[in-house]
Amino acid sequence: MNHSTGTLYIVSAPSGAGKTSLVKALIDAQPNIRVSVSHTTRAMRPGEADGVNYHFVDRAEFVRMIEHGDFLEQAEVFGNLYGTSQSALQRTLDEGHDLILEIDWQGAQQVRKLMPAARSIFILPPTQQALRQRLTNRGQDSDEIIDGRMREAVSEMSHYNEYDFVVINDDFATALEDLKAIFRANKLQLDQQQGRFNELLSQLLA
Ligand code: 5GP
Repeated sequence: MNHSTGTLYIVSAPSGAGKTSLVKALIDAQPNIRVSVSHTTRAMRPGEADGVNYHFVDRAEFVRMIEHGDFLEQAEVFGNLYGTSQSALQRTLDEGHDLILEIDWQGAQQVRKLMPAARSIFILPPTQQALRQRLTNRGQDSDEIIDGRMREAVSEMSHYNEYDFVVINDDFATALEDLKAIFRANKLQLDQQQGRFNELLSQLLA
């Protein structure tokens, strides 16, 4: 039987590092990789859709879900609640798909404890100036708001050394190749190959 379970990946980055675009390009190129859709209490942004970017819920519903034990991990990030629901997660992995959680460092710490086989990746911008530029390009925000976002970004980045892999997103294409390399190398690990090539291995060693 050529069966192996998928790997759980955690991807974290400060806002403005290009995490969402990189993950999107990765899954466009690798259809076997899925991305988990989190629940959040934050307001929907223009261009976002419920059930696609997030499941948008109110605080009361989110708290009900916590009490019901629905979340693998959950955290408050900049005043809003975010969480990864358990239900789809194990099914996706059992089907053999790799699954990406785009979550912050607090969620990453919780997932590492619960699922030690998870691999974690931190995406960094090339410089503080580039990050500020990317946070500025997003809209017509005041310097105070941008300064606030920079502080949040630096606080998120201070956790980079808790991760298995670090990718610097200077050149997008290079960063994407780096991400692909991480996923590809993981597929070649002994336990993964044993699962996939069970039959071949018994034939070769007969
Ligand atoms: P945004 O509101 O800009 O989409 O995301 C803000 C932050 O929340 C990002 O750092 C993102 O990674 C994090 N985040 C998104 N979904 C989850 C989740 O389900 N759990 C946790 N812990 N963080 C999340």
